[in-house]
Amino acid sequence: MKAVLDHVGIAVKDLAAALAFYRDALGLEIEPSEDVPSQHVRAHFVAAGESKLELLEATAPESAIAKYVAKRGPGLHHITLRVDDIHAAVTELKARGARMIDGEPRPGAEGALIAFVHPSAAHGVLIELKQAGLVVRQAHHERGTDPSLTLSSSKGERTDTVTRYTLGDLELISLCDGFFRLDGGSMFGTVPKTLWDKRALPDERNRIRLAMRPLIVRGARTMIIDAGLGDKDTEKFHDMYGVDRSRNLDHTLAEAGLSVENIDIVLASHLHFDHAGGFTARDATGRVRPRFPRAQYVARRGEWDDATHPHERNRASYLPDNFAPLADAGVLQLVDEDQTIMPGVSVRWTGGHTAHHQIVMIESAGRKAAFVADLMPTTAHAPDAWIMGYDLYPMDTLVAKKRLAAEALDQDMLIFFAHDAAIAAGYLRETDGRRDVVAARDRS
Ligand SMILES: [Zn+2]
Ligand SMILES: [Zn+2]
Repeated sequence: MKAVLDHVGIAVKDLAAALAFYRDALGLEIEPSEDVPSQHVRAHFVAAGESKLELLEATAPESAIAKYVAKRGPGLHHITLRVDDIHAAVTELKARGARMIDGEPRPGAEGALIAFVHPSAAHGVLIELKQAGLVVRQAHHERGTDPSLTLSSSKGERTDTVTRYTLGDLELISLCDGFFRLDGGSMFGTVPKTLWDKRALPDERNRIRLAMRPLIVRGARTMIIDAGLGDKDTEKFHDMYGVDRSRNLDHTLAEAGLSVENIDIVLASHLHFDHAGGFTARDATGRVRPRFPRAQYVARRGEWDDATHPHERNRASYLPDNFAPLADAGVLQLVDEDQTIMPGVSVRWTGGHTAHHQIVMIESAGRKAAFVADLMPTTAHAPDAWIMGYDLYPMDTLVAKKRLAAEALDQDMLIFFAHDAAIAAGYLRETDGRRDVVAARDRS
């Protein structure tokens, strides 16, 4: 577990007096306040370098802050440590016998997940654990009129599981093939670490945690878009990329009531190993074969040509075992341009990430969704300029992202994020020029 100091919570009795000190005398900048109605608390965050102070004001007499102040007077209340996997952190602490106030993570301010450790376990200090990177701004949530919108983190549920959505006559099921880790700097390109590490906490090797979320579309036929990493890789590879497939596509397919035999079409956004690795599997004799025995596999011709003729810059991302057996088995269909793959589902070229990267546009009964693959891999990549350093043609990414975002905002498009560690799907929102994502609530 790696934890960094996120903020120090200070219980305040007289907010005006506190502001006179922290804002006026110290000259610190106070951020807009945020109410946490369930706690009867109003939080005022104060930026102080890498970390923050949090002035906590009670909004009702039954507030824990009111009781704290009444008993001990205003002062230091808690410290908050940011972790990258709060479920793992809580499990670890419990396994070591640390007394917890919250046995399970729960929603906190700014849409984060939190869990309090009892002061008796932390030598007299109240410690709050927090998982950032789930930040979905509440204010934006309120702007939407769709009652199905909610903060996905507010349920505190597992994030490696199945979520289901209805889009007109289609059923969309987001699966998970587990998690892996990539260099945080590479994931955010020109965005400085001081900004991105607020959204995704890097580990000691500077890697951030990413999910792999293939998408099932059930309509006239059953399609899977991308298929995660699969299970052909070596231990060395797993260590390098911090692979955690303890729950993977096999589990989530089964949880969705499906098996590999049910899949009619496998559609590739592109052929990088974290999207195409699951296209093939080793049989009992060790031979690599198509994993979905009945399926036709669909990929873009230009992407296929690049994957089968890699160069120094992209070679590490294209592993022939993931796609060459498809051609050998005669189950591969290459498409040359944007077209409908099955009713309601079409591919759209974006380029950018790779020269022939494509996203999948889904439409039924006037409702729209998009599987955006590596165009907008996580919710943190929603702003135009947050573009991966991995992208071969970042200016193409910018153009494609602007187009997609304009449509998504205009048409309330449900966006599926292939790599977000916490959120499978959501809606873009823009307030005061700031773009964010509101998680979509699934049907289950
Ligand atoms: Zn990729
Ligand atoms: Zn990817």
